[in-house]
Amino acid sequence: MKNHYQLLIIGAGPAGLAAAVTAAKQGISCALLDEQTTLGGQIYRGIETVPEQRAQILGAEYQRGKGLADAFRECEAEYFPDTKVWSLNNEREVGVLHNDKSQLLRADQIIVASGAMERPVPFSGWTLPGVMQAGAGQILFKSAGVVPDDGVVLAGSGPLLLLLAWQYMQAGVDVKLMLDLTPLGNPLLAMPKLPRALLAHHYLTKGLVYQRDLKRAGISTKLGVSDLRAVGMDELQAVHYRYLGREHIIETGLLMTHFGVIPHIWLTQAAGCQHQWDSSQQCWRPKHDQWGNTSIPGIIVAGDGAGINGAKSAEHAGRLAALQALFALGILSERERDQQSVNERKSMQAERHIRPFLEAYFAIPQSSLATANKDTIVCRCEEITAGDIREAVANCHDDSNQVKYLSRCGMGACQGRQCANAVAHIVADATGQAVSANSHFRGRPPVVPLSLQQLASLSKEQEQ
Ligand SMILES: Cc1cc2nc3c(=O)[nH]c(=O)nc-3n(C[C@H](O)[C@H](O)[C@H](O)COP(=O)(O)OP(=O)(O)OC[C@H]3O[C@@H](n4cnc5c(N)ncnc54)[C@H](O)[C@@H]3O)c2cc1C
Repeated sequence: MKNHYQLLIIGAGPAGLAAAVTAAKQGISCALLDEQTTLGGQIYRGIETVPEQRAQILGAEYQRGKGLADAFRECEAEYFPDTKVWSLNNEREVGVLHNDKSQLLRADQIIVASGAMERPVPFSGWTLPGVMQAGAGQILFKSAGVVPDDGVVLAGSGPLLLLLAWQYMQAGVDVKLMLDLTPLGNPLLAMPKLPRALLAHHYLTKGLVYQRDLKRAGISTKLGVSDLRAVGMDELQAVHYRYLGREHIIETGLLMTHFGVIPHIWLTQAAGCQHQWDSSQQCWRPKHDQWGNTSIPGIIVAGDGAGINGAKSAEHAGRLAALQALFALGILSERERDQQSVNERKSMQAERHIRPFLEAYFAIPQSSLATANKDTIVCRCEEITAGDIREAVANCHDDSNQVKYLSRCGMGACQGRQCANAVAHIVADATGQAVSANSHFRGRPPVVPLSLQQLASLSKEQEQ
C-alpha cells in the first residue's frame, strides 16, 4: 500500500465499486479499501465466492452484483480487502489497519462509501443470546451458507425483513412466524407518496411477490404487532407480543429483528463533516451537495452512507462521486463532468421515486425509538438502561454527549454505534425536544475497535 493516492475509496459495496471503475478508467492512482474479506458490500456480500445454488436462493437482485464485481476486477484500481479504516481527518489523512499493522495514508480526494447499518432499536430482552438482527442472519447466509436449523421468529418492520423471510423460505428454513411491527396507520399515511412510488413500481411488485410466496408457503404473518419482548433466563425461550389487543406468546430459541437501516456516519463524523437530521429517514446523515461533496473539501460521500437510497441508487451515486473527484483532480473539465453525469443522474432519480413511500410506510413509531421501558438495556457494552439515561436527563444532562459523560453510555467497545440513535431519541423524549435539536454522540478515532498493539505498530512503521 502506498502512502499517497490521488483517490482513495472507502467501502467496496455498489457505490465504492462503481466509483472505482469510473475513476480508474482515467488512469489515476486509485485504491479501494474495505474491512471485509470479499467485495460486494452488504447487498452483494460474497458475490465472487458464493456457490451457484446459494446465489439462486438469494435471488436475481443479489446475482446482479456479479457484473459489477467483474467490471471492478477488470479495472486498474488497487484493492485492499481486510483493511479497516479507523480514522479520517479534515486534511484527508486516513488511518488504516492492514495485515494487522496500522498505517497513515493521504489522498487528494476521498470517497466515503461506507454504506449502512441496521438501526438498533432496544426492546426488552434484546440482549439475550438467541436474539439477533435480521441483517446479521442474512450475512451468515450470504457469506457462509449458515441458516437456522431449528426455526426462527422474524419481527420488526422494513423491506429487509420481508426479503430475509423469502430467502429463508427458499432455503427451506422453518420461519415459525413473522411479527410485523409496522403501525397499522402507516399505509394510510404513506398513500400520498404512492403516485410517485408507482414510477418505480418494480419495487412494489417485488414486495407483493415476496408476500404472495410467503403466504403460499404457509408462513404466517401477524400485522400491527406491538410490545415485543424477548423472554428467557440465560437465553431466549419465548417471544411475547401484543396482537389485536391481546398478549400472545410464541416459544422459540431464535428471534431475528429488523427496524430499517441508517447511514454509517462514523468516518464522516470523525473527519468533522457537518451532519443533519433527516426526519423522513429517521437518522443523521452527512450534509452533501448533488455530487456528494461534504462540508470538507475533498471528502465526498456516495451510497447509503450519504442517506438511504438502495443499492442501484448507490451505484449511480458512486459514479457521480467519481466524476466529481476526477473534476477536482483536474482530469475532467467541468463540462466533461456535467456531460458524463446526465444519464447517471436521471437513472439515480428514477431509482429514488420509491423512497418517500417506503420511508412513510415503514416509519418506526417514536414510542419504540424512545425505549419506554426503563429497565431495557440501551448501551449493551456498558449495560446502561433507558432508566439510567432518563435519570441523567432529569439531572440536567439534556444532551446525548452529556448523558454519555455522566453514564458511560456509548463509551464501550462499539463506541456508541449500537446506542447512539436510541440515546438521542430517549433524550429528545425526556426533554420534550425534537431529535434534531439534540446532538449525536461525537465520533472520534478509532472509529472501529483497534488494539493498542495494532495502534502502536503505527509509530514503528513511521520510524522505519
Ligand atoms: C446488514 C445489511 C444487509 C443488507 N442486505 C440487503 C439486501 O440483501 N438487498 C438490498 O437491496 N439491500 C440490502 N441492504 C441495504 C444495502 O446495504 C444497500 O442499499 C447497498 O448495499 C448500499 O450500497 P453501498 O455501496 O452504499 O454500501 P454497502 O454495500 O453497505 O458497502 C459499504 C462497505 O463499506 C465497508 N466499510 C464500512 N466502514 C468501513 C471502515 N471503517 N473500514 C473499511 N471498510 C468499511 C463495509 O465493509 C462495506 O463493505 C442491506 C443493509 C444492511 C445493513
